[in-house]
Amino acid sequence: MKRILIIEDERPLAEALKYSLTKEGYGVDLAHDGDAGLRRFREGGVDLVLLDLMLPEVDGLEVCRRIRADSRVPIIMLTARDSDLDKVLGLEMGADDYVTKPFNTREVLARIKAVLRRSEAREEESPALVRWGGITMDRERHEVSVEGKPLRLTPIEYGLLELFLRHPRKALPREYLITQVWGGSFYGPTKTLDVHIRHLREKLEPDPANPAYITTVRGVGYRLDKPPEG
Ligand code: CA
Repeated sequence: MKRILIIEDERPLAEALKYSLTKEGYGVDLAHDGDAGLRRFREGGVDLVLLDLMLPEVDGLEVCRRIRADSRVPIIMLTARDSDLDKVLGLEMGADDYVTKPFNTREVLARIKAVLRRSEAREEESPALVRWGGITMDRERHEVSVEGKPLRLTPIEYGLLELFLRHPRKALPREYLITQVWGGSFYGPTKTLDVHIRHLREKLEPDPANPAYITTVRGVGYRLDKPPEG
């Protein structure tokens, strides 16, 4: 049985989530502030964290950071405003996904399943080391570098780059990327994909304004190319 830790200060919402998740067969722990959530997380046995952004005491971003300091556990953020998106998704080694309030429980359940599936797939993957142009991805260490310089990617940026590296020089349709990264449970605006691609380019490309690695294929999606040697 997978165990989910819900860190959410709105008690009726937390209780409603707990009820639905328990009915789906998950084990559920509740914490109503950041400190209590971190304490419960450190006791161990948590497979996924549902984390509210606006929390008393230690806020959601700080809780996320502290969990990420020593764990790759999947984290889904619960956010109140779309304007928090950049902050939540751009966070280095931050949340795996987010849900904007108000949400319905089916959506949250779909996200949980997708994120858990992704993290399981990540563990089974091989080979450990992939190279393309100046990019090196070490799956075992979960590290990416360009020309020997380490990159700090968010989980979604890492997932996207992993997909590109698996299909180099192939135009990958937007729908394909979305389905693969979000596991067929994508409810958000498709421009979210472009935000992640933009962040990835800013970290990866020698000149993000003229991408050499991740190029746009008009009307289709994106393709991983190899910059000319030089
Ligand atoms: Ca809150």
